[in-house]
Amino acid sequence: LLSARGLHKSFGDNHVLRGVDLDIEAGTVHALIGPSGSGKTTVLRSLNGLEEPEAGTLRIGELEIDLSRPRSRRERAALHRTSAMVFQQHHLFPHLTVLGNVTIGPIRVQGRDRDTVMAEALGLLERVGLREKADAYPSSLSGGQQQRVGIVRALALQPSMLLFDEPTSSLDPELVGEVLAVMTELAGEGWTMAVVTHELGFAREVADQVSFFDEGVVVERGTPEQVFGAPEHERTRRFLQRLQ
Ligand code: ATP
Repeated sequence: LLSARGLHKSFGDNHVLRGVDLDIEAGTVHALIGPSGSGKTTVLRSLNGLEEPEAGTLRIGELEIDLSRPRSRRERAALHRTSAMVFQQHHLFPHLTVLGNVTIGPIRVQGRDRDTVMAEALGLLERVGLREKADAYPSSLSGGQQQRVGIVRALALQPSMLLFDEPTSSLDPELVGEVLAVMTELAGEGWTMAVVTHELGFAREVADQVSFFDEGVVVERGTPEQVFGAPEHERTRRFLQRLQ
C-alpha cells in the first residue's frame, strides 16, 4: 500500500533518520519498535506528511512522491487520503463534543455530506462502546475513552490505513487494555495499520511485520516470530533482553 525509501531527516545537528526503508502491505499490521529516540515517531509522521524529510521517496500506488521537494496539491491530497493518525496524546478539541470532534474533519476539511458523516460517526462510536458519550465533552471522559474517540476520529476520515503513534503510552496501566482491544479488533477486520509501540506483547500477538529501529535506521525486520523469537542482530537482542 505504501513504501518509503531512503528517508533522511535532521533536527538541527541531530540526524534522526539515516536512510529508512519501510513497506506497509495492504491488510497487514506493521509494528515499529525500538529504543526511545530511535526515530520511530519521525518515520510515522513522515508517512502522512506531518514531517518534511530532507531526502526520501514515498510510493503510494502509482504515485511516487519525492519528499525532498515541496509537495504538489495532488501529492498532499494523496497523503491525506492514504492515512490518518492516532496520536500519543489524543489532541481532541476541548470545546467540541465527542461527536463534534469526530465529524469536524470529514465535514469541514473533506466537505462531505453532514448527515451522512453524523450517521457514520454515531455508528463508529457505537462500535467502540461510546455511543452514549456522543454529546459529552472530552474532559469528562477517561484517558482510555478519549483515546478511543481519537481512533474513531481517524476512522471517520475513511483513510486507506491507520497510523498509531504510541497510542497507549500516556495512559494509566488499567486503561491500556481497552485501547489495545479496539486496535486488535481493527486489525482483525483487515485494517492496514502502522503502529509505533512499546507494547511488545501487542506487537508480538497482533503484528504481521515488525521493524526494529535503532539510531535512525531499521536494524532488523521480519515476522514477530523472527524478530522476537530469533533476532539476528546483537542490537535487537540487547533491546529485547533489557525489557524482560
Ligand atoms: P520515542 O519512543 O521516545 O517516542 P522515537 O523512536 O519515536 O522515540 P522520535 O520521536 O522519532 O523517536 O525522535 C527521534 C529524535 O528526534 C529524538 O532525539 C528527538 O528528540 C528528536 N526530535 C523529534 N522531533 C523533533 C522536533 N520537532 N524538533 C527537534 N527534535 C526532534
